[in-house]
Amino acid sequence: AGSGKFFVGGNWKCNGTKESIGKLISDLNSAMLESDVDVVVAPPFIYIDQVKSSLTDRIEVSAQNCWIGKGGAFTGEISGEQLKDIGCKWVILGHSERRHIIGEDDEFIGKKAAYALGQGLGVIACIGELLQQREEGKTFDVCYKQLKAFADAVPSWDDVVIAYEPVWAIGTGKVATPQQAQEVHVAVRDWLSKNVSAEVASKTRIIYGGSVNGSNCADLAKQEDIDGFLVGGASLKGPEFATIVNSVT
Ligand code: PEP
Repeated sequence: AGSGKFFVGGNWKCNGTKESIGKLISDLNSAMLESDVDVVVAPPFIYIDQVKSSLTDRIEVSAQNCWIGKGGAFTGEISGEQLKDIGCKWVILGHSERRHIIGEDDEFIGKKAAYALGQGLGVIACIGELLQQREEGKTFDVCYKQLKAFADAVPSWDDVVIAYEPVWAIGTGKVATPQQAQEVHVAVRDWLSKNVSAEVASKTRIIYGGSVNGSNCADLAKQEDIDGFLVGGASLKGPEFATIVNSVT
């Protein structure tokens, strides 16, 4: 881990019922969590209220997405103002499932980030390459292009955490090696330094996501430029998620 405060987010995706989420909340409430770690969970929208009312304040709540602007006649969408209203602190934007399954593009995601920051939400800004892009040697170019879209849109990086999530590692059980992750995190930091500022490069947390679990987190956390994790599958199990939170070194 680097010098910034370690950050671990749990992305519950489109999973859970009132009952299973109740159990997860009670497991998280009784877990021992290292004090020097920002811990965030991202439930599906409809369960955020349940989570806010029964989860310990020690853990902050994120949404998994939001609308690009002010609410209004946008059927099925949820606005940044509404997320603030129910007590969300964060929103995940640019997740690969939204990019590649739903079809969100860089510009759309950048606009969402700018609007969410303007509402006082923190943004977990996701980037990452597809397997084919990695095999073609395009990993850095893809990440830089996605980063640039965020950089062009956001007024400030103060409330942004970057999540590097190689798409081939998400939900596949194929975690990036610590070296593979570290290499991209360094490249991301370099890009920030050259294209935003040295200060933003050193202050912005860059977290890794993609098949992180209780067994592989410790080796990843040792890498100098890995400032935390975004966790999907393993965040649905309270004790395992706590192990990942506590892997801070
Ligand atoms: C994610 O969806 O952000 C993720 C990293 O998923 P998983 O941990 O299941 O690979």
